[in-house]
Amino acid sequence: MRHDFGSLALSSTLLTVVAELGYEKLTPIQAQAIPVLLQGKDLIGQSKTGSGKTAAFALPILEQLDLEKRSLKALVLCPSRELCAQVAREIRRLACRHPGLQVLTVAGGEPFRRQASALERGVHVVVATPGRMLDHLRRRTIRVHTVTTVVLDEADRMLDMGFHDDIEKILTALPKRRQTAFFSATFPRTIEVMSRTFQHGAVRVTIDDGEEAAPDIRQLLLMTEPETRVRDLRWLLANHAHESALIFCNFKATVKELTHTLSSAGVSADCLHGDLEQFERDRVMARFRNESIRILIATDVAARGIDVVDLDLVINYELHSQPEVYIHRIGRTGRAGKQGLAISFASIREQPKIDAIEKLTGSRLERLVRDASADVDTEALPNPLERDARMATIQISGGRRDKVRPGDILGALTGEAGGLNAADIGKIEIHERLSYVAVSKTVSQAAVESLNEGRIKGKRFRASII
Ligand code: ADP
Ligand code: MG
Repeated sequence: MRHDFGSLALSSTLLTVVAELGYEKLTPIQAQAIPVLLQGKDLIGQSKTGSGKTAAFALPILEQLDLEKRSLKALVLCPSRELCAQVAREIRRLACRHPGLQVLTVAGGEPFRRQASALERGVHVVVATPGRMLDHLRRRTIRVHTVTTVVLDEADRMLDMGFHDDIEKILTALPKRRQTAFFSATFPRTIEVMSRTFQHGAVRVTIDDGEEAAPDIRQLLLMTEPETRVRDLRWLLANHAHESALIFCNFKATVKELTHTLSSAGVSADCLHGDLEQFERDRVMARFRNESIRILIATDVAARGIDVVDLDLVINYELHSQPEVYIHRIGRTGRAGKQGLAISFASIREQPKIDAIEKLTGSRLERLVRDASADVDTEALPNPLERDARMATIQISGGRRDKVRPGDILGALTGEAGGLNAADIGKIEIHERLSYVAVSKTVSQAAVESLNEGRIKGKRFRASII
């Protein structure tokens, strides 16, 4: 099987875009699924997290779109709001040379009315959670008779989360003649049952780990007791020169407490847990992605769907009682062919958890020995991870709805108007109604001032450091 994009029947526009994004080779799931989808066939695609499943279904969708009409052609269902946002982001990236393409996320936690009016104006692709999608169907605020492709992304997780009935209702409401694709990291029997009801002659593509380069994750274990945990964490952060780290705790109380402890010690840390409002979560995730926060502390549920490609360190501050959760957590590092690092803390009493993990992964965790000489000056060390974040995030009160594009923000900050160097500007994220731009800490004040004094697209927007 050839693994370059050029071997696919994709338009030159899409081939240019993937090249611009730096995608050199097709991932195995892409190489096998894209030709099937381009032929219009139904598909069950199974491959592990991080293997490029989004582009595997997004590219065929984009290939088949007709931008002349503003009608809904493709529906993608995802288990959470964060995953919807992520999938929509990847589709928009791949569609950057499809001017006028409208991709709408339809998830809970966002005003229903606003979604309904965007749907009324017309969109080409909807990325939705099953619950909210069903609400729109019930209230007749979405019309699906033009849909030709439906994708269930993370089908296994949606079923785990109890969306089975909602999904059935949605699939039943769609036109009979359509393409149906299921994507999933695992293949439980429930998917097979659903396939029999809702697919026709589905082609099944399974990429087992042997075919793919196994993720390269160094897995370390540090034995420590509750009373020495914080001290050991700081030692660890001080001794591993990573750009960013994700720390998992089992409970939100631990997340809050640890965040407080680290922040009070001057560490650039923030957290993600179930008590935060959606806009607060979006904000934290944006700041973590653009390197304004170096350390993110999270519970499993809150971290669901975090996709930070360059996550180079995952710390299990507490081991979970289910070994599968361990695998899921450490799977956030070592992506895209890079070596990842996962470090777990455990106390002597937790030996059974360690045994269960080693049994499930089939390998022994490497014991990390803490150098006693480090005890003395942990507090005084010039810490690689404990140093401040390099970037600060500016929030701008305009987004996609205001037709703000990354180039507009870049333009407002650089050149005569802004006076900043392009090198001081980091990631720019455009959301529906606001945008985030990362700038070097040293110039952040000047950047905010020039944004507040200047205009973007001829309009004034409010900018502030968050
Ligand atoms: P999955 O859905 O299988 O978990 P994603 O679709 O989220 O995986 O992709 C993981 C990452 O890999 C994303 O950052 C995506 O942009 C990137 N990616 C996708 N396809 C390729 C490719 N062919 N080459 C390099 N990177 C890719
Ligand atoms: Mg995915």
